[in-house]
Amino acid sequence: MDKEKILYLKDACLKEIETEVKSVNGKYVVLGKTIFYATGGGQPCDTGKIIRIKDNKEFNVVFVGVFNNEVSHEVDLDELQKGDKVKCILNWERRYIFMKYHTAMHLLISIINKHSGALITGNQIGEDKSRLDLNLENFSKEDFIKWIDEANEIIKKDAMVKNYFISKEDAMKNPSLFKLKDKLPKDLEEYRITEVEGVDIQADGGTHVNSLKEIGRLEFLKAENKGKNNRRVYFRVV
Ligand SMILES: [Zn+2]
Repeated sequence: MDKEKILYLKDACLKEIETEVKSVNGKYVVLGKTIFYATGGGQPCDTGKIIRIKDNKEFNVVFVGVFNNEVSHEVDLDELQKGDKVKCILNWERRYIFMKYHTAMHLLISIINKHSGALITGNQIGEDKSRLDLNLENFSKEDFIKWIDEANEIIKKDAMVKNYFISKEDAMKNPSLFKLKDKLPKDLEEYRITEVEGVDIQADGGTHVNSLKEIGRLEFLKAENKGKNNRRVYFRVV
């Protein structure tokens, strides 16, 4: 997979691009380059439209995933052909919510990790709430509410968010880049880094807002006990 063709890794704010169809298998389309996020890392895929330029025919992008090391776009009609010139348009409203939640997650994870040493064993970003699973034995709801408050203070102060690539060698020198327990591949040549300046730095493939204040405010929803060493917490962005 050529990271240069996965445009959201460097610029999550691209809402529209023109490109061409590289290959087609029924309703599954690989593009010359893409702005559509492929499901992964707890962040749902993007949706949107692919418009064939020669006749303005619209195809809805209903799912995006990585298959055979390529970003594959599932559309609702199997009429696109290799070589077709297309315009891609993101469902930006949906994507922007995921960007807010994803950056908020990094902020929360860094606060939780600092206070408790917990790592993240699972996470799911949604449009109206997000979920974090923590490998914590002793946990109180009050602790998590305090951590949310701390996150809100940091959001108010604001910080820039940057995305860039570093070599495997440099990534391995910094274990704090890896806060997801057993989740990140350790066999890549380069790692994409998401840094919230002065706050957090993690190896990551997601899409993020450019600055913390874009998130707004976080609100605690609920905490569940999912067994020994597993606490599940829900929060939302308001
Ligand atoms: Zn992430």
